[in-house]
Amino acid sequence: MSEKPVNSPGRQSHYTIVIIGGGIVGAGLLRDAALHGVDALMIDKFDFSSQTSGASSKMLHGGIRYLETFEFDLVSESLHEKNLWLKLAPHLCYEHSFHLPIYKGSTRPPWMIKTALSLYDLLSSFENTPHRVLNSVDTLKALPHLRQARLQGAGVYYDAVVEDAKLTLEIIYDALEEPCAKALNYTELLDFEIHGDRYHLKLRDTLTQEHFELTTDNLLFATGPFTDHFLNPRTDLHWSPKLLPSKGSHLWLPKEKLPIEYPVVLTPNDGRVIFVIPQRGAVLVGTTEVTLEEGELFNLTPSESEVSYLLSNLKDFFPTLSLSVDDIISTFAGIRPLVRDGESTNRSKAARTHQCYWPRHNLGVILGGKYTTFRVMAQDLLRPVMKRLGRPYDENKTKQSLRRRSVITPFGPCPLGRAELQAIMENEHVRTLSDLLERRIGHPHPGLGIQEGSVQALLEAHRDLVTL
Ligand SMILES: Cc1cc2nc3c(=O)[nH]c(=O)nc-3n(C[C@H](O)[C@H](O)[C@H](O)COP(=O)(O)OP(=O)(O)OC[C@H]3O[C@@H](n4cnc5c(N)ncnc54)[C@H](O)[C@@H]3O)c2cc1C
Repeated sequence: MSEKPVNSPGRQSHYTIVIIGGGIVGAGLLRDAALHGVDALMIDKFDFSSQTSGASSKMLHGGIRYLETFEFDLVSESLHEKNLWLKLAPHLCYEHSFHLPIYKGSTRPPWMIKTALSLYDLLSSFENTPHRVLNSVDTLKALPHLRQARLQGAGVYYDAVVEDAKLTLEIIYDALEEPCAKALNYTELLDFEIHGDRYHLKLRDTLTQEHFELTTDNLLFATGPFTDHFLNPRTDLHWSPKLLPSKGSHLWLPKEKLPIEYPVVLTPNDGRVIFVIPQRGAVLVGTTEVTLEEGELFNLTPSESEVSYLLSNLKDFFPTLSLSVDDIISTFAGIRPLVRDGESTNRSKAARTHQCYWPRHNLGVILGGKYTTFRVMAQDLLRPVMKRLGRPYDENKTKQSLRRRSVITPFGPCPLGRAELQAIMENEHVRTLSDLLERRIGHPHPGLGIQEGSVQALLEAHRDLVTL
């Protein structure tokens, strides 16, 4: 069912590559290395995709608002990646029309929206479904609950909705189809020693508290927003803080309370954007952009002020719907791994491009970027490793479809019977009940679609987990 400890008899104790971090970037690195036949291990301190990569706005997108900061290369790269994943993993993401309402007196007037949307289509090499602009009557037909006062119309453009945790998991499952790949969740890198060109890693199973060690020739950090926290104390690497961590929170609301059929992009007066995205029988609302509180790092939750910020903007844009805190189904929060731009602390203006660092020739770190661009991020860190190993690197290897599907796919019904639960427990690296409920089943409505009689099977799965 779950991974045996890595130091159990017969288990490999040396790897060509060890990747720290099992979010989307670590997963992308593992898959790329595995498809190139390099033996590689990826570890995560918690469950795979349980941190930032399971707490995103769940969009594969070019990032319409990065046009305002002139990040055209990033938008173009992201749009191409979005359109690639729509082809490679159509069961995990789908295209949706996003409505961007335009109001009289807004800081983003109609001409600006029209120009931005034309540019967006151009930067996708016209692979995007083309945008259109609606007048106010058609906008209200599509979104009848939207505030009418001063409404001029809406820009309609196309991005993708993705189940972020599931895509990360399936990238890992695809890597594990290659015998040279290995992945361990709940395995923390505590420390490492440098012995010439080799790294001696000290690891801990965070559930059993078992400590063990292994060695590697190449150590790659895909620890996203947690990187400075781990590397700052390493004086031997001369690491200086590189991140400008930015917390973002989301709410799930019931579709009956927020009845919209299309994703809407709200543009409050503070210059931010808030996405309101119907999916999986509920509506996802986010996000915020705030600094971290002292001590906040892993497993974050939204603050009261973030929740009320999102709710008050919803009330402003959908004044006829009576939404309150009591309607919230659940909430989640994550940290954007933004890279510092000199002394600037303006998080909303910080670039979303990624950066690779090489504190030593065989110790690489990748920061920044977006969920959408994980494949090219992984390529930029892996390419130099392959060169040093003297092995050919094929840029197109990762453009193949995923080979192993998870038992529960996100957007259809959730046929969760005893057989499905058993298959998940045996094949999907489940080690805690929250792994099972939040990421392997992963529906926002508790109980949604679960077959009658399966509650007993769930309880049995829970019993198996606690007696591990
Ligand atoms: C609110 C919000 C909304 C976003 N929305 C979008 C969006 O819609 N689309 C998009 O493209 N991007 C979005 N992003 C950005 C995107 O989510 C991130 O860029 C991406 O998920 C980062 O992935 P990662 O693998 O680098 O980090 P993570 O997913 O955080 O993975 C890093 C992992 O490292 C592990 N780790 C840390 N220290 C150790 C250690 N010592 N030992 C072992 N493991 C360790 C952690 O447990 C963690 O799982 C959003 C980000 C936020 C915060």
